[in-house]
Amino acid sequence: MLPAAVLKIILRIILSLFLFIVIPILIAFNFSSYPLKLLFIFYLSNAGVLCLLLNQNSKARYQIESKIQDIREKLNIVRADTLKEQKFNEALLAKRERYDNLKKIVEEISQNLDLEYISNSITEIIFSSISNHKGTCLLYLIDKQTQRLSLFKAKKEEEDLVIKTKEGDIFDMWMLRHVTPLLVSDIKKDFRFDSEKLKAQSTMLVSSLISAPLVSENNFLGILRLDNPNPDFYTQDDLRFLVSVSNLGAVAIEGSQLFLKTQELAIRDSLTLVYTKGYLMERLALECERGIRKGAVFSLLMLDIDFFKNYNDEFGHSAGDIVLKRLTENIVNSLKDLNPLVCRFGGEEFCIILEGRDKVSALEIAERLCKIIEKDKIILRRQETSVTVSIGVVAFPGDGLRPDELIAKVDKAMYEAKRKGRNQVCGI
Ligand code: GH3
Ligand code: MG
Ligand code: MG
Repeated sequence: MLPAAVLKIILRIILSLFLFIVIPILIAFNFSSYPLKLLFIFYLSNAGVLCLLLNQNSKARYQIESKIQDIREKLNIVRADTLKEQKFNEALLAKRERYDNLKKIVEEISQNLDLEYISNSITEIIFSSISNHKGTCLLYLIDKQTQRLSLFKAKKEEEDLVIKTKEGDIFDMWMLRHVTPLLVSDIKKDFRFDSEKLKAQSTMLVSSLISAPLVSENNFLGILRLDNPNPDFYTQDDLRFLVSVSNLGAVAIEGSQLFLKTQELAIRDSLTLVYTKGYLMERLALECERGIRKGAVFSLLMLDIDFFKNYNDEFGHSAGDIVLKRLTENIVNSLKDLNPLVCRFGGEEFCIILEGRDKVSALEIAERLCKIIEKDKIILRRQETSVTVSIGVVAFPGDGLRPDELIAKVDKAMYEAKRKGRNQVCGI
């Protein structure tokens, strides 16, 4: 097939030949006079030259057009290359930004042992750099007591959105079983999850998600997850970044949990697990300060076991320890609705701070506690035994404004209860 431009030129030549040569010759032969014949032959030669020029002009135009075509093709190739390079540069920039974010996370979480701060940094950085603040970002931690997932931190595109799945949903349960990174592009098309169960769990606000386990030295600590109402929101690259952040986060979270545990152990009595005298004195000072500043009231109870020396002598020191543990459990359980601060003040002496309780209310509570302890039967060496306690009660601000004042008074009140015959409460 000839190109359209060549065909055009051939047609033009044929037309020119026909118009300027064939027709004039035919006409010239019909002229009888010689001058007229000459005129036509002159006209004929001019027309020939014109045709030749026209032909050359067409040829030049054809060459220019094909050159333009060539340049256009080259331009397209350059354009495609530039686009490719641009995309590559963009990807490189995104990767660099993520690397910078990783560095930022390392810097932030390695300088801090506060769990709240660490979880906030991790969730904030991934929610902005992966999700661009779209959808939700959830951090679940394993509750040490229940061994279940518990929602610890949530970042949301819509502030009003309520996260109902406080203990995780079907995807988090999958993560608990598999402990491996998860990418779901479209929950409706993912055969791993039962659509009926999804409906029942009302996770319809989620169409795609990425999730990674928080694992530190084989300890499963929780889950870090991002989800979005649109399908195909996350890429494999996003998941890889999430896994890197989760690995770093897990180490920091474990460190902060261990630190919390050490701190907690330092202020707990090793036998009874209630607070130590040192911690009570700290808290007492804080409560007094708060009471003066805000006008709040609180009560302080001091409790001592009656004739405990005799008990030890009869049943042995280990049996005495069991009684001490049992008594503490009894105090903590009986007062649990009052949010008390229970501490072992000395050998078999305990102190209790009751926030927001005035003296009248505290005296009633102490009376009740006295009776509960008296009635509690403890079996030791197949023998049913029990202990009684004497309790002193004072209240802030009526009985004193300073910790040492309150302690001196409550001690006096407790000894007054002893003096009056033990197994009773005295409010000084
Ligand atoms: P009361 O208070 O009624 O005056 O008589 P008591 O016999 O309880 O006298 P006191 O409070 O002075 O005695 C304290 C006794 O508590 C001495 C000790 O045998 C016992 N004790 C103190 N700490 C412990 C402990 O950690 N374990 C055991 N088993 N006994 C302890
Ligand atoms: Mg005693
Ligand atoms: Mg004592």
